[in-house]
Amino acid sequence: MTVTAEAYVLESPKTPLVRRPLQIPAPGPAEAIVEVIACGLCHTDLGYADGSVPTKKGTPLVLGHEAVGRVVAAGKDYESLTGSTVLVPAVLPCGDCSFCKAGRGNACPNQKMPGNDIDGGFSTHFLVPARPLIKIGAGLAANVASLSVVADAVSTAYQAILRANLAEGDVAVVIGAGGVGGFVAQIASALGARVVACDIIAERLQLIANYGASETINLVNLDPKELRKQIRAFAKGVPTLKYKIFECSGSAAGQVTAYGLLERAATLLQVGYTPNKIELRLSNLMAFDATIHGTWGCPPEVYPGVLRLIEEGKVKLDPFIAYGPMSKVNDYLADMAAHKLERRMVMDPRT
Ligand SMILES: [Zn+2]
Ligand SMILES: [Zn+2]
Repeated sequence: MTVTAEAYVLESPKTPLVRRPLQIPAPGPAEAIVEVIACGLCHTDLGYADGSVPTKKGTPLVLGHEAVGRVVAAGKDYESLTGSTVLVPAVLPCGDCSFCKAGRGNACPNQKMPGNDIDGGFSTHFLVPARPLIKIGAGLAANVASLSVVADAVSTAYQAILRANLAEGDVAVVIGAGGVGGFVAQIASALGARVVACDIIAERLQLIANYGASETINLVNLDPKELRKQIRAFAKGVPTLKYKIFECSGSAAGQVTAYGLLERAATLLQVGYTPNKIELRLSNLMAFDATIHGTWGCPPEVYPGVLRLIEEGKVKLDPFIAYGPMSKVNDYLADMAAHKLERRMVMDPRT
């Protein structure tokens, strides 16, 4: 079965996405065609669209790596998926290499990212590898569109938390509480950590105070020593080996702040991205016997854990999402560039 999709195509960087028909070929044995119910708009999409981040496939390219949809056709190895509602992870590992077999599929060298390596979800339909697709159970059927943000923002937060070995009673310090950082705060709290969220935007801190953060700290004009004092006061009685610091700001300033909070046997997770460099004394790691982990995406096999937290109502998506038609995607990209989007946009390609 082939499908003619209506796709929003980046013809070349720095030009608006163009809606046009796109022929989707019949799926190969291990592929599936997903009819998109909703696709989230991520800051990375803006980077691709404005040319500041090159895409692996080049252009023309359909962007979008936060899709949820329904399998309308699948190759012979995955025919049983046809008709299922599925989440398409933002990182699609091969499943066969030594990285995948070691449970490190998110670092798979053969991974495909929709809207980067292959055409993505800003379309009525798209073609994806079938193996990594995550089936959505009946318990989550009430608001399938909202789950699109799990494909990247929420699952990236969850994987960072798993990578940190976060446990009940830990203190989670979140630097940058928007987007991924907000979900880190919620999930860490759902798993029994005490969360302090730090940001430079007061509105974000107010929101996250209702969804996981026990304490919020506004970093504007705050001296690093004073911040350290406030974190220690918050974590009173908890040994520093239970400090889990999540750098989610994607800024050099946030990285400096996060690194400055490392203490004896503490753990720092680098979640955000910035091309900018910082200067630091790496020997602090040695002196503190501390740990820094990088973290990228999320392997498909751990998605069910975070979906369970959502199904149980322990992690809320809707307060952080706004819904809109995909026909307005260029407006949303412009709003995002102007820092006017306060919530994550979830777009319906049929409207
Ligand atoms: Zn993303
Ligand atoms: Zn692999």
